Amino acid sequence: MNAQEIIDIENKYTSGVYAKQTLTIVRGQGASLFDVDGNEYLDCSSGHGVANLGHAHPKIAEALYKQASTLITLFESFPNDQRAALMEKITALVPGLDRVFFCNSGTEAVEAAFKFARISTGRKNFIAAMRAFHGRTFGSLSATFNKKYREGFEPLLPGVSHVAYNNIEALEKAVNEETAAVILEVVQGEGGVYPASAEYVQVARRICDERGALLIVDEIQTGFGRTGRLFAIEHFGVTPDLLVCAKSLAGGVPMGAVLIGHKVQNLTPGVHGSTFGGNPLSCAAANAALEVIKEEGLPRQAEVKGAYLLDKLRRIESPNIREVRGLGLMVGIEMKQKVTPYIKALQEKKIIALNAGLTVIRLLPPLVITYEQIDHLVKVLSEVLTVEQKDE
Ligand SMILES: *Cc1c(COP(=O)(O)O)cnc(C)c1O
Repeated sequence: MNAQEIIDIENKYTSGVYAKQTLTIVRGQGASLFDVDGNEYLDCSSGHGVANLGHAHPKIAEALYKQASTLITLFESFPNDQRAALMEKITALVPGLDRVFFCNSGTEAVEAAFKFARISTGRKNFIAAMRAFHGRTFGSLSATFNKKYREGFEPLLPGVSHVAYNNIEALEKAVNEETAAVILEVVQGEGGVYPASAEYVQVARRICDERGALLIVDEIQTGFGRTGRLFAIEHFGVTPDLLVCAKSLAGGVPMGAVLIGHKVQNLTPGVHGSTFGGNPLSCAAANAALEVIKEEGLPRQAEVKGAYLLDKLRRIESPNIREVRGLGLMVGIEMKQKVTPYIKALQEKKIIALNAGLTVIRLLPPLVITYEQIDHLVKVLSEVLTVEQKDE
């Protein structure tokens, strides 16, 4: 099939819920993606933060092949060698979070965390932040802030309210004896790449402790090295009661997880479950991914390369740039205009970038991006961002 045939077929049969690109990607390697005609693109999206290890990592491919020819599926009621190994590894990552629930995506991890918070505390309400993104199924959607995701789907989960992010007073006012949990991203992703202040995260922890609410941290986008630490909470010295992760957990294979702390109670058989959750194939991929992250020192790579990239971006002199911010290789460039035309212009120069809201260009490259690729990225960005790009 050529590019146009692929595009035509997808446009004919798609549900319609995606704004389709006119770029057809068939292969990946490290931080590069290739279209059907063999043109190379620099991937600064990582599938929204999934491909931290880079595309087509040989250790993930090998683990998948081996496990696929051994055992793909097994309900979590039956113990399994790959799952047991992953449970040991993943619960050793954050001191104090020593149990785990496996599922298949980010939104499922958030849904599980919400159920666990209610059954554990006997309370109903949740507090999330303005600009937050936690997913698109009914529970997680209720905690997602942007109207664009929520409109047309009400009524959502009752008892979910939103407070200003990084605002201690607002949190002080909102959390009470009916609050089951506070849910936060410690660097907001979709919302525009806003890191939390250390004080805010630490105060959130204290308020939850004082008032008997649980603290859920959503590390679905920030996890597994992205921000320069294995988990972004390590920047803040705070341990949540529930940590939800997914995206790059299994090296690109669909998988989600909830890490669970001591305060979370009443998780008894039947309280929750998932057909595919903890399947040996995903577990084998995650085992391999965690080994690669360690062997290749990916959090450290993200820290150093992220600082290098941020420094270079801050030197671009352009009247169109409002602010450059980020943590590790999670980078936002806030523009004074809408960013869709900028992202289009970047794509024409073979760089795939994301937006975060209307005015922020978001860069989430694979953590294995090379310095040569970063230098190229900066060069193209300084060409594209210094010219005011407008919709045709
Ligand atoms: C992507 C994302 C989700 C949702 O994950 P899905 O796998 O798409 O359901 C939730 N929270 C954050 C912070 C995310 O970045």
